[in-house]
Amino acid sequence: MIGGRSLWAMGIVGGALLSGMVIMTVVFDEKLVLSWAMVNVSDRRQGDAHLLQLGERVILIDTGDKGSAERQLLPLLQERGIQTIDQIFISHAHRDHYGGLEALLENNIHLNTVYFQLPDRTICDLEVPWGCDYDHVNASRARLKNAGIKVQSAYSGQVIDLGSGGGQIKVLYAFDGVRTPVGKTDINDTSLIMLLSFAGQRILFAGDLNRKLGQYLAKDEAVNLQADLLKIPHHGAESLAPDRFFDASGAHTAMIPAPRELWCNDPRTERVRNWIDNNDIKTFVSGIHGHVEVRVSHEGIETHTQYKARECGRRKITSKRITGISQLKIRGNVDAMQCNGKQLKLTGWAAWQGHNDQQSLIVLGVGEIERIRIREVGRPDVVRTFDDDDLYFSGFDVDLTLVNGCPSGKARICMVSRDGNTGARFRLNNIHRADGCRHY
Ligand SMILES: [Zn+2]
Repeated sequence: MIGGRSLWAMGIVGGALLSGMVIMTVVFDEKLVLSWAMVNVSDRRQGDAHLLQLGERVILIDTGDKGSAERQLLPLLQERGIQTIDQIFISHAHRDHYGGLEALLENNIHLNTVYFQLPDRTICDLEVPWGCDYDHVNASRARLKNAGIKVQSAYSGQVIDLGSGGGQIKVLYAFDGVRTPVGKTDINDTSLIMLLSFAGQRILFAGDLNRKLGQYLAKDEAVNLQADLLKIPHHGAESLAPDRFFDASGAHTAMIPAPRELWCNDPRTERVRNWIDNNDIKTFVSGIHGHVEVRVSHEGIETHTQYKARECGRRKITSKRITGISQLKIRGNVDAMQCNGKQLKLTGWAAWQGHNDQQSLIVLGVGEIERIRIREVGRPDVVRTFDDDDLYFSGFDVDLTLVNGCPSGKARICMVSRDGNTGARFRLNNIHRADGCRHY
């Protein structure tokens, strides 16, 4: 910290040139404040958007999905009189991180440069329809370019000087999911890992970093992950970076962009909650606190929340660790099927790929499907554990609208779970290999 509260200037007198004396003035503003607003784009579903302001500079890390950007991000920009964003970093190609770009364009927010890496198509399209979708990412980037916006890819080691008071953002890691130190990974592991430093404080943005690369990065001594504040990856939900990664950051404060329900009651966030409890970490959750603003100055850190913290009312769910899930033959079950008119509802549990919102559940033998909605639901009765393939068990609810109504024989309905890592498919209901299930 520099003593004194007033603005002070350090003049460096350059050599006399032909045109006369040149004076370079470097100004340090004691009161200069870096503002980081963790925007509550997790008001309904999970999402990330972080608005950074320092002096005149305006930067966004992620935008939330389109709807949440319209509900939460745009009003905040308006409130702050922001019409231009100098740089946007899209941490990775999931819509809860980039979908809001469309809302910004439609509302005539001026964007200068967007760092938005085009993912590898094969890795990306493994996640269609619930996650990454190459064509959608490509179209989004093209839309930006057509609007005259620079679209670039951030790279490891890149440093963005924030122009005021020595603030900077460093991209610690930017893996493409193909050339990584741990082999092929997935889109969450392509997250930009960025360190923001200002006034002696360090803030680590970890995107939706997953276990595979998280494990590697935690032990890579070449890069210093140390931070005062940590933006928790993947909304706090499995299968995010391991505790070792959090430990390596040594952060005293955790910022979690997660809906209230996911944070408070979902077993997927249990591990991070335990880490936080065990390490006495100060915690801010967007779904609980609303927008959270961190103000960093030479005088320290201040946090402001939109709402007063409310109690979580947590349920404690304990998990039992077992190993070798991928070798298990049991990959889930369909517990109940109900069909009424055109509405078919299936509930059960399956081995999910933990780092995604929705495992790819496929329903066969029901004729043409008008609409399918898959929801992961916490099942305290189902053992939740992880293996090296990042699989875990969780409950599901599937609601289908069928074009031709309920099928006459329910024994023909076949439900299949697809492992997003390997593409392998597993039958969930044991229905005597009826027609629809023949190949699984
Ligand atoms: Zn996300």
